[in-house]
Amino acid sequence: MISNSPDRYARHEMLHEIGAAGQRKLSQSSVLIVGCGALGGFQAELLARAGVGRLRIVDPDIVELHNLHRQILYMENDAESKVLKVEAAAKRLAQVNSGVVVETRPVRFNAQDAQSLLAGVDIVLDASDNFETRYLLNDVCIKSQTPWVYGGVVGTSGMVMPVLPGLRGPCLRCVIPAPPEPGTVPTADTLGVLNCAVAVIASLQTTLAMRVLLGNPPAEIGLFHANVWNMSFDFLKVQRNDLCPCCGLGGFEFLDAPV
Ligand SMILES: [Zn+2]
Repeated sequence: MISNSPDRYARHEMLHEIGAAGQRKLSQSSVLIVGCGALGGFQAELLARAGVGRLRIVDPDIVELHNLHRQILYMENDAESKVLKVEAAAKRLAQVNSGVVVETRPVRFNAQDAQSLLAGVDIVLDASDNFETRYLLNDVCIKSQTPWVYGGVVGTSGMVMPVLPGLRGPCLRCVIPAPPEPGTVPTADTLGVLNCAVAVIASLQTTLAMRVLLGNPPAEIGLFHANVWNMSFDFLKVQRNDLCPCCGLGGFEFLDAPV
């Protein structure tokens, strides 16, 4: 079978950062992708091409025409027939790499289902488009000691930060203790979004995910910011806050919120 050919991952296995042992490790790994739009599409395709064994993708939405400029898994006919994103994504990913198991969950990531959606995964990639979901994701990942990678893109800029539960580094709430009020920060819906910025941020998130899966996360944890249009890149080192309401004090108010 072509999906199992020893040549398939040869150019990845050549890299000392991955190697044959690393490739085997990736093939035994499971990743949850929360949101299968712009960031999630790039992440899923890169991980499928890299031979990560199992992908679980969560998204309740259907494909729309205005998605296509940045959501690479979807085609015009997907928008015309208004299919669920997870269904269109699974079809495309099966063509990309038939050796990868793709599990689809056509639901919004929510507090009630959060723990079962994380069951059995090694890492979570944030591909959501709102802070409500990210704070819930932060809660459930800190509680279950599951690493996750924050990512967001608006306009021509984006940010990335890995969260490695335990003593390894800060969580999202060490940086931003409370989510901004809805409507107070620009979003892709209000400001637009550059497709190339999505590709850069998703690629950085996916690289971080691979490094964590291979047991080689970055030594310094912080918030990486890129303005892709201006080609300006900044890194802000972030310390873990012992008084953080989540990872410091152990509160999970977004996960425990009444439904
Ligand atoms: Zn924290």
